[in-house]
Amino acid sequence: MIVLKRHADRRIRKGHLWVFSNEIATPRISELETGSIHELQDAAGEFIGMVYANPSSLIAARILSRKKAPIDRAFFVHQIEAAVERRKRLFPDRDTYRVVFGEGDLLPGLVVDKYGPVLAIQSLTAGIDAHMDLVQDALVEILAPEAIYLRNDSPFRMLEGLPLEKRLAYGKLPEQVIVELEGLKFVVDVPGGQKTGMYLDQESNRSLLKHYVWPGASVLDLFCYTGGWGIHAVAAGATEVTAVDSSRPALNTAQANADLNGFGDRFDPIKDNALDFLKKTSQTWDVIVLDPPAFIKSRSLVKEGLKGYIDINRRALGKLQSGGILVTCSCSHHLDPPGFESALLSASRQSGRELRLLDARGQAPDHPVLLAMPETRYLKVMVAQVV
Ligand code: SAH
Repeated sequence: MIVLKRHADRRIRKGHLWVFSNEIATPRISELETGSIHELQDAAGEFIGMVYANPSSLIAARILSRKKAPIDRAFFVHQIEAAVERRKRLFPDRDTYRVVFGEGDLLPGLVVDKYGPVLAIQSLTAGIDAHMDLVQDALVEILAPEAIYLRNDSPFRMLEGLPLEKRLAYGKLPEQVIVELEGLKFVVDVPGGQKTGMYLDQESNRSLLKHYVWPGASVLDLFCYTGGWGIHAVAAGATEVTAVDSSRPALNTAQANADLNGFGDRFDPIKDNALDFLKKTSQTWDVIVLDPPAFIKSRSLVKEGLKGYIDINRRALGKLQSGGILVTCSCSHHLDPPGFESALLSASRQSGRELRLLDARGQAPDHPVLLAMPETRYLKVMVAQVV
């Protein structure tokens, strides 16, 4: 049993799932066993929910259920089945999507991506690690995958005092994983790629390019990773895509993806630092996609990260033809949509290029935002046109 201090229940009763270590009245934090399940009570002794605990994390407990019920195999089967049903309704024709998005699916700390017959799991907390067998059993029962691969190499695990590891947890990986999205094919390197192999959080945004790329357009895909945006751009009619990334393996996969779709002749991968590339190049483009890694890695780095966003957006705007389109993204958790919008406004002023905002979006719907938990919202995408 974990009992909260007075008033600490307010945020949690509104739907938030985290209990911070300074909000717990009893027991002493050090007495909580890592990954253990407890009933959570408010200061008046009223039941709030079932939590798992981690004494070595600032987030000392996370709510798994608001019902007084055991956290067992049936619990995970029920929760994961519900998440799968939501995805099937969203994407009736797709076999590739994020099955579970942690807190957004009321399964804090658990991420499951499905790439056709292969599942990739990220466990981000001690509480999920402690129940990994049950999670895997449930996934096998519900989705009958050919393989489950554990990508427990996320640095977030270190905040929970957990080791980093990668391994096959079930079945056998196919020689090559190739998925189809919007009629386009992509190779996914589940053991070796970034995150779990692909950035599925942008999938519903990449298909926006069909509205903004016109036949014959030239497109710059900056921070292209395995070419997701660039390949959608060719499908939308672009005849010339320059794809820049600092990772050689990512670019190799990007080229393989372009070839796989028959787009090899319209796709030009370049290994470079994105900012250096923009400083050097004298070329201009009709459409530029800017989808960098998070520049703001912690709350203390907001100012510095904002400068990074302004700088790269300013330089990208300088490389757009008039009437050109900028698709600019930020996946920094510590930057909210208005903050990102004002960074873009600064970039627009500094580059002397006035912008019209055509669209503003967030993460794909298989990465749902729990409205009561702003922490579950992280991706921001704006589409703007040079006036
Ligand atoms: N746009 C991609 C996802 C990008 S993730 C997609 O749709 O799938 C960020 C990418 O930026 C990674 O591939 C990483 O290798 C690359 N990267 C990180 N720092 C970079 C830098 N300074 N210059 C160029 N690429 C960089």
